[in-house]
Amino acid sequence: MAEIKVLITGHHSKDSEKRPYIGSTVTLIKGQSNIIVDTGSFLDKDKLIKELKNEGLRPEDISAVIITHLDLDHIVNTYLFKNAKVFCKFRGGEYPGQTHFPSEGRLQRTNLLKKDLVDKDVEIILTPGHAEDLISVIVNTAEGKVVIAGDAIPSKEWTDFKRQPSPLITDIEKFNHSRRRIVEVADYIVPGHGEMFKVKKSNL
Ligand SMILES: [Zn+2]
Repeated sequence: MAEIKVLITGHHSKDSEKRPYIGSTVTLIKGQSNIIVDTGSFLDKDKLIKELKNEGLRPEDISAVIITHLDLDHIVNTYLFKNAKVFCKFRGGEYPGQTHFPSEGRLQRTNLLKKDLVDKDVEIILTPGHAEDLISVIVNTAEGKVVIAGDAIPSKEWTDFKRQPSPLITDIEKFNHSRRRIVEVADYIVPGHGEMFKVKKSNL
């Protein structure tokens, strides 16, 4: 069984001058190795390093980074994890995914859906809608299945299926299909921009 630790709770709000203040959730999975899902905003860099230290880890100790999608609020601290393989889906690509080896300046095509790709208790699923390249991560823990959803579920309110996203930023049909799939499978959800929460199956 793996363990989950949310290092940064994602935010999506306005600052005192009403400018957007946005950064993603950053989650640590402690499995056979140490894995980070999404790396968040520059604003959260120092906090991220401090939270890792509290777990007895340095960025160099992270062996894999999974990026839920390639929006900037989810990726800018990726450079900190110089020993990590970075997994993501290529937007618009025909193949299922790719692995980057940033310290070697190399990438290769990868099947993200392959079993045990990252860790035996970690599974990647495709959850497009908010973005075409969106992936979510299912983690087997002692408390049940935790889905790290990225912006397939931006915050808890999005498990209310009556709430609909803006068609300007989202393929609504795919978004709705993906979030329903996550709510079906998850005992807990770590959303892209909010607190981790327990899933109420009555929402289905
Ligand atoms: Zn986001």
